[in-house]
Amino acid sequence: MKIGAPKEIFEGESRVAMTPDSALQLQKLGHTCFIEAGAGHAAGFEDKAYEKAGVSVVATAPELFAAVDFVVKVRPPTETEMKRLGAGQTLISFFYPAQNAEMLETAKATGANVIAMDMVPRISRAQKMDALSSMANISGYRAVIEAGNNFGRFFTGQVTAAGKVPPAKVLIVGAGVAGLAAIGTSTALGAITYAFDVRPEVAEQIESMGAEFVYLDFEESQTDGAATGGYAAPSSPEFREAQLKKFRELAPDMDIVITTALIPGRDAPKLWLADMVAAMKRGSVVVDLAAERGGNCDLTVKDEKVVTENGVTVVGYTDFPSRMAAQASQLYATNIRHMMTDLTPGKDGVVNHNMEDDVIRGATVAHQGAITYPPPPPKIA
Ligand code: NAD
Repeated sequence: MKIGAPKEIFEGESRVAMTPDSALQLQKLGHTCFIEAGAGHAAGFEDKAYEKAGVSVVATAPELFAAVDFVVKVRPPTETEMKRLGAGQTLISFFYPAQNAEMLETAKATGANVIAMDMVPRISRAQKMDALSSMANISGYRAVIEAGNNFGRFFTGQVTAAGKVPPAKVLIVGAGVAGLAAIGTSTALGAITYAFDVRPEVAEQIESMGAEFVYLDFEESQTDGAATGGYAAPSSPEFREAQLKKFRELAPDMDIVITTALIPGRDAPKLWLADMVAAMKRGSVVVDLAAERGGNCDLTVKDEKVVTENGVTVVGYTDFPSRMAAQASQLYATNIRHMMTDLTPGKDGVVNHNMEDDVIRGATVAHQGAITYPPPPPKIA
């Protein structure tokens, strides 16, 4: 099959869905690869590097879309991009079908297939294609780096001839994929790191990474909501109060707070409230990784960095993976390559879009003129 990556057109997006390395792997599966001229430039991959890897460079996006069977992308398609695809062609990209009903209708009308990378089931077998996790990992890492960049002090404590420096204290709220990456980065930099999650099962993971799990004064159990499929459920008012009380106690002592708390299908819970920011020391930093979904912090402004009256920097950027475009492109292109591996069982360039396969079925949101979202639940874990 012919597989091509266009240049991302979302403003400020620097990632690319195919790298020279991933193209080499795709060719080993029997496919031929195409790239729009300049598509990898912002991520540090020049056209020449693609050509060296056997990729054909195509001048424009319309030419690329017309030339290939599979279009691989990072950001969900625009209407124009979606309409460029027809029956027999397949798009693989982030798609967010729940928020993109119109685009699904377009796919139904044109007959194009759509594989949504954000719909890959989060089961063990599919971890190699789990782009949500690979990007969350980068966001967690980058959130700590961004915090450090805005924090005028060291993370690690030091005793030098010039004086004694205390270690920074970092609180990570939410210990999913991004939160755990943030914990790992923060402890590696030498900060005293605390972390909290409503799912008590992550306490062990947090502690094994050298951070301290924040326990609440809450009867019997750390959690109250029935978690679904490893995800958090909304908290009861009593649990929430206990959580906020604990955060109020911690706020004056924390130098950096990184919030990552999300609940599927809902706005991000507000957990780091205005009074907590007001209680933080001048020079402290909040990085809100939930900014895309409304933010965990009261004072977050999406895509911006604000400094409060008491001198606390609140970062609400939503493009952390794009800020590390080389790394993010490498991991995302590998996720896509693994998806293509499963779609090409014979490694002979022949695609079998097997709708009996849990992972392929789960990620396919439009197929041969039908909308196939939402999928049935996966049969295996
Ligand atoms: P997510 O981005 O949906 O949420 C981030 C974290 O916020 C979660 O850990 C959640 O428990 C936490 N949270 C929600 N409300 C909170 C609150 N009020 N206070 C504090 N924390 C709160 O999560 P994710 O990173 O996508 O991961 C979700 C789950 O999926 C995790 O259990 C993860 O281990 C699991 N997972 C499994 C696989 C797999 O292949 N098996 C892959 C990726 C993730």
